[in-house]
Amino acid sequence: MSKDKIQFVDLSAANEAIRPTLDRVWAETVATTGFVGGAAVERFENSFADYCQADRCVGVANGTDALELILSGLDIGRGDEVIVPANTFIATAEAVVRAGAVPVFVDVDPDTALITGDAVRAAITPRTAAVMAVHLYGQTVDVDDLRSATDPAGIAVIEDAAQAHGAEWRGRRSGSLGVAAGFSFYPAKNLGAFGDGGAVTTDDQQLADRIQVLANHGRSATSRYDHELVGRNSRLDGLQGGILSAKLEGLDAANAARVAAAEMYRSSLPAWARPLAVADGASPVYHLLVIRCALDEGTGGRDALGQALDRAGIGWGLHYPTPCHLQPAYADGEPKPLPVTEELAGSILSLPMHPHLDRSDVDRVCEVLSDFHAA
Ligand SMILES: *Cc1c(COP(=O)(O)O)cnc(C)c1O
Repeated sequence: MSKDKIQFVDLSAANEAIRPTLDRVWAETVATTGFVGGAAVERFENSFADYCQADRCVGVANGTDALELILSGLDIGRGDEVIVPANTFIATAEAVVRAGAVPVFVDVDPDTALITGDAVRAAITPRTAAVMAVHLYGQTVDVDDLRSATDPAGIAVIEDAAQAHGAEWRGRRSGSLGVAAGFSFYPAKNLGAFGDGGAVTTDDQQLADRIQVLANHGRSATSRYDHELVGRNSRLDGLQGGILSAKLEGLDAANAARVAAAEMYRSSLPAWARPLAVADGASPVYHLLVIRCALDEGTGGRDALGQALDRAGIGWGLHYPTPCHLQPAYADGEPKPLPVTEELAGSILSLPMHPHLDRSDVDRVCEVLSDFHAA
């Protein structure tokens, strides 16, 4: 079966298979009027905590809020520094600034593009309160290496697991690898809602309680009209809770399909287009399939490759072309160079990746790449 285009992500295929369940979720929401929070959200929180091997899950409005609420819940803010890999989506740094703390950007590992213990060790100051362990592209950070830097210094490891639902490090799931983890359910993530959504997972009961209060206008859990903390409004909708519960059941199968597609890519991509490395101990879930392009000048480089993919009707993206420390809103004076991140920003490219890619899709993408270099 030939298709005209190969989409970068496919947000519709997965819904067809569970349409009756989705219809039931809608009918239940209408019948129960559990529009914000409520039983459907609690059910999802319980199953997602279990899924992540964590004791608690608190649903919130989006992934950025999840990260900010973890920081505020831990009393990290004004006067504190938080170490952030410069190679991440801007929201990681945004959450730190919103919480009142200062992001300190560090370089990443050249093979995995993830934060390392060495980079963290070199950036620790007396003000360092936490590290954002960003499991970027669906691969967990080497948390043993990271904790060799943070544990002696008493620094909290906060997981940014927005791209890593179900990813594991030595058999432990993302969401259980630090003090707390922030997840996003933005529709294109591995577990996506029908709108924005997010969650915090943690084993710390007090932290979970505090985040629940902070995310609901600081309202006391026991006394409805008492506001012990200045909170905010960052809640998960009942409809999203129901949809997420339905989709969670298919998450492992969807992740396995991503892994299978990644293996096809690995075996068929030309030598100049290598996917990022997978560290020993990591079981990634391929939120994105990121290659590093080692292209000769004569080919026109990455821009020309993008045009060739466009012509062939193949979706692609750049994650991320401008690192956080060089973004106008975050570049503080003259940012110190972070050579690995900067090199990656100029050479990475993301190919189509979603659970509904088949062999012929992957072969077609790989063919376009092979032909591009031969041309
Ligand atoms: C998507 C994402 C976020 C933010 O999630 P939202 O739900 O969009 O707020 C944070 N960090 C990373 C790495 C992400 O990919």
